[in-house]
Amino acid sequence: MILVTGGAGYIGSHCVLRLLRDGKDVVVFDSLELGHQEIIDRLSKLDRPGKLIAFRKGDLKEPEDIEAVFSEFDIDAVVHFAAYSQVAESMRDPQKYYYNNVYGTLNLLKAMMSADVKRIVFSSTAATYGEPEYVPIDEGHPQKPINPYGNTKLMVERIMDDYDRAYGLRSVRLRYFNVVGADPAGNVGEWHEPETHLVPNVLKSKLGDGKEFSLFGTDYPTRDGTCVRDYIDIEDLIEAHMLALDYLMKGGATDYFNLGTNDGSTVREVFSVCEDVVGSKIPLRECARRPGDPATLVADNAKAKRVLGWAPKKTLKDSVTTAWAWERSRQD
Ligand code: UDP
Repeated sequence: MILVTGGAGYIGSHCVLRLLRDGKDVVVFDSLELGHQEIIDRLSKLDRPGKLIAFRKGDLKEPEDIEAVFSEFDIDAVVHFAAYSQVAESMRDPQKYYYNNVYGTLNLLKAMMSADVKRIVFSSTAATYGEPEYVPIDEGHPQKPINPYGNTKLMVERIMDDYDRAYGLRSVRLRYFNVVGADPAGNVGEWHEPETHLVPNVLKSKLGDGKEFSLFGTDYPTRDGTCVRDYIDIEDLIEAHMLALDYLMKGGATDYFNLGTNDGSTVREVFSVCEDVVGSKIPLRECARRPGDPATLVADNAKAKRVLGWAPKKTLKDSVTTAWAWERSRQD
């Protein structure tokens, strides 16, 4: 049985869906502060070989909430998504981030150690690298976060190393670049309130909520002046989590991998793929840079390919197509 923390959120819910499709039994733990009950309801109703054994609403900052899950269920491994993930908010309110992302994870790890559960796949981030010293960024790139969000994720990586040495905790840390897209069958998709991410914001502008899409920064040292990011499809990203779980189940040692495509797109290029997918013009306004955005972030994904046998398959257009279907279904 696999425990998924944050299973009612964007990436977590796609992981639960895939585990169920693969015939795994799953327990979801989520505070529903950012996740959605409706997502849990949808996942519970799916007719899949695996079963959503239980949903437990709880907060990792309350140790007894997560301890109760390990007392109740026989967990083989954990996939840990539950976290705050907005860079700008983390600058304004670092305490919120350190308490939730670091203290919350300490409580999770303590409950795991007490229950003798020693395998975890952890969502880390490209934000642990900070301002890139070179691109594409490989796993040997220095980790020097430039915001509290990145610090919290790096601290957890370090904690996991120490727990490995002392207690034999085996972790796989997956450092995400920019995740996009939705389940092609439309069961789950990206749903943040407020939404800050590029693709959903462009698509929402098309759906006519009255707002033009705001493009942050046109004077970056890139091929068209807008930021370059490495967009990885949600299904490809989740595939890496399945491979990481298998790797741990087979006795694999603690390790860490970038999840990206080795290829970058500018904001203008993403915008134009969105216009192509929706089939018409989308209103756009050029704005000042958003503080804290590096010019270019592109992953070197060779290690995940070599060690996990992972290979992303989807194009940016595939991801925008599923994201668009999801946005329209939400509108309906
Ligand atoms: N971006 C933008 N308008 C938006 C949201 C994002 O121009 O409404 C830009 C942002 O400045 C960055 C890129 O799109 O260069 C990706 O931003 P996102 O928030 O999706 O991911 P991040 O790279 O911050 O993790």
